[in-house]
Amino acid sequence: MNFKTVIGLEIHVQLFTKSKIFCNCSTAFGSEPNIQTCPVCLGLPGTLPVLNEESLNLALKVAVALNCEIAEKIKFDRKNYFYPDLPKGYQISQFDMPLAKNGELYIISSTDKSLKKVGITRTHLEEDAGKLLHKEGNYSLVDFNRTGVPLLEIVTEPDINSPEEAYDFLSRLKSILKYLEVSDCNMEEGSLRCDANISVQPEDSDKKGVKSEIKNMNSFKGVRDALQYESDRQIKQIKKGDRVVQETRLWDETEKVTMPMRSKEEAHDYRYFPEPDLVYFEISKDKIDEIKSVMPELPDKRKKRFIEKFNIPEYDAAILTSERSIADFFDACALKINDYKLISNWIMGQLMEILNEKKIKLSELAISIEHFVELLKMVSGNKINSSIAKDVFTEMVESKKSPGRIVEEKGLAQISNEDELQSIVENVVKSNQKSVDDYKSGRKNALMYLVGQVMRETKGKANPKIVNEMLRGVLEK
Ligand code: ADP
Ligand code: ZN
Ligand code: MG
Repeated sequence: MNFKTVIGLEIHVQLFTKSKIFCNCSTAFGSEPNIQTCPVCLGLPGTLPVLNEESLNLALKVAVALNCEIAEKIKFDRKNYFYPDLPKGYQISQFDMPLAKNGELYIISSTDKSLKKVGITRTHLEEDAGKLLHKEGNYSLVDFNRTGVPLLEIVTEPDINSPEEAYDFLSRLKSILKYLEVSDCNMEEGSLRCDANISVQPEDSDKKGVKSEIKNMNSFKGVRDALQYESDRQIKQIKKGDRVVQETRLWDETEKVTMPMRSKEEAHDYRYFPEPDLVYFEISKDKIDEIKSVMPELPDKRKKRFIEKFNIPEYDAAILTSERSIADFFDACALKINDYKLISNWIMGQLMEILNEKKIKLSELAISIEHFVELLKMVSGNKINSSIAKDVFTEMVESKKSPGRIVEEKGLAQISNEDELQSIVENVVKSNQKSVDDYKSGRKNALMYLVGQVMRETKGKANPKIVNEMLRGVLEK
């Protein structure tokens, strides 16, 4: 029997506000424990929450980007549960009147690679809980700095059908959230967290299987691995004749297994009721229009424009637009030089390589668009060959000098002048009789070796195309 996998994700995103959602405490990450707290976020009696408008604005940007229906009126509710990192004994969240519903995000289907819609069930605002630090020796410490940091919860429909699709969904969502500058989406620091619901059902059945919910993954890869494990586990369970029980399971990153944590709670366990200390909020059409007017061009649209306007391969366009800063850099270069494939090659090659290597963002790399474009113009104008250009690029990053100056100081300009190359070519032919014989007896590869020798003699500065032609001229005489 073949099985179909059904997955729905619940994602929590910390919104990039300066202060918390219901008080003025800072949201900065990494401070000394418990210094970013006040009576409101510590849940002391007699305090009142006040909604941070910026958190609502950021949440609305996401709702617009995900094509959601935005509520005209929202309210907040208390979700009651006791946990040591939740000092009030309840979390202010949204229950039956969420900020937005019925959105969508398109992913690539893992079966036929076509575009596939994943429905967004809802998205709502809530406050984050604190953080427990479990210590060896059976005790825990609590840090309330995170308590009250604004969170946006995004819930998907069970439209995802494989671990790869879940991975693709998360990558695309992250890219959008970063374009919108609403969150840094750092899973290690907890600013993006994902719980995954998964069930399996016989391929020919319409009836959904019993789902489990997996928590505790700290990377997109972790989500994918956990889902693969869990799908296999559930299928095995059913094939054995056992039932899958509805429960919450924890992913163990070291052992690569999921373990039962608790039976799943239901909405009624939380005794939701309206938060009496906050009013209803109306979201005006003007406000939504204002947000729409400042929306950036989002990754999918930008990718499409890159393919159409610059005539670069889809593969390039996808990579170049996955991050806004990189796409902005490409756009800026494209205004100054029209060899778009050359720009693309250099950004995807040298530039992104150095960012990966140094583990830094583009904004942290000391390279200006002017210098980058100047370097590309030297390449396309044959002033330097591409292997020298790579060295110049490395030097540019280190010294911040312009490529023109580096080439001049180091005497790296390409030699394309045949007169200058003539004697070198002749010498190489004279001193490599064996390669010459090889070439003449039909081993055309020998030419490559001879070109290499000329390149060596000129310290890489010769124009390889011209050397190639000159050598052939001499050998085929
Ligand atoms: P619950 O009431 O248990 O919280 P919901 O219906 O609210 O369940 O859904 C929570 C998440 O679980 C959503 O992301 C949804 O898409 C997903 N989900 C619901 N049913 C299934 C299922 N049978 N298999 C996998 N995921 C599911
Ligand atoms: Zn506070
Ligand atoms: Mg639910």
